[in-house]
Amino acid sequence: MKGFPVFDGHVDTIQKVLDDGADLDAGVPGGQVDFDRLEEGGVRILCFACWVSPDYLPDRCFERAVSLLEAVHDLAARHPRRMAVAKTMAEAEGIAGSGRLAAVLGVEGGHAIEGDPGKLERFAELGVRYMTLTWNNHLPWAESCRERTAGAPVGLTAFGRKVVERMAGLGIAADLSHASPRTFADVLEMDVPPPLCSHSASSSVHEHCRNLSDGQIEALAARGGVVGLTFVPGFLASSGKADLRTVLRHAERILSVGGERVLGIGSDFDGIERGPEDLEDCSRIPCLLEALRLGEEAEYLVASRNLMRVLEAWEV
Ligand SMILES: [Zn+2]
Repeated sequence: MKGFPVFDGHVDTIQKVLDDGADLDAGVPGGQVDFDRLEEGGVRILCFACWVSPDYLPDRCFERAVSLLEAVHDLAARHPRRMAVAKTMAEAEGIAGSGRLAAVLGVEGGHAIEGDPGKLERFAELGVRYMTLTWNNHLPWAESCRERTAGAPVGLTAFGRKVVERMAGLGIAADLSHASPRTFADVLEMDVPPPLCSHSASSSVHEHCRNLSDGQIEALAARGGVVGLTFVPGFLASSGKADLRTVLRHAERILSVGGERVLGIGSDFDGIERGPEDLEDCSRIPCLLEALRLGEEAEYLVASRNLMRVLEAWEV
């Protein structure tokens, strides 16, 4: 392990814990994330993305999000020697420095607030550090990257801006993965700290609505934001099959377009059936960092500092 922690900005593991009774010390059957493999990969800061399925619409989304967030706290309480929840990046560094896993909390899908920005306050109390504005469904106040449907808004509405402003007031960063290009551009124009895309890839390497164009990556870099590179094979290659070299191509494209301060890691492990070949689980992330052949300073930026810088910028 290097002298710095690896920060994976997006995993779906907590659903397996809450719904399937998985525990990270036993090794999760079919899972890609557990305490031993995290340690092996030097992943000492991990964002548990609490994804709320639209199946919980219209009025059980908030409750579901809170259950997932509480499940992360419960997991930390069960394993105090291996893991603790970090509400700030300084706390995350301290926890990582003590050899434990720093758990950072995210909510994926703005429908989790059920149209009530006041619900963000409970998220902030629970330690949420980012909210992915949309998942694959359009919200009444934000357009997702998926095909337009009747009644979907164009980009971020005036109400959507109020949501993002409330998030900024509470220290919850805006995550623009899954957002439509217009929603992305609308948030970039707002007077809030730099946004992140917690789990996206490059659409010039593989055209996919979930990926970012070179122009979007440039704009995000100019704004001081960060892209957590995702390992979802379906977003990386048209065959739906990917290996370490495929991921490397996306990483190199993002670096060449946006520079070394825009790239981070957002695997989406445990949200995918299988990881790319040679990058099958969280223990393998150092293989990607090595393959990038960056100098030590740039490797630190990509491994963790860039994501930390953006989340720090939102701290209140
Ligand atoms: Zn996602």
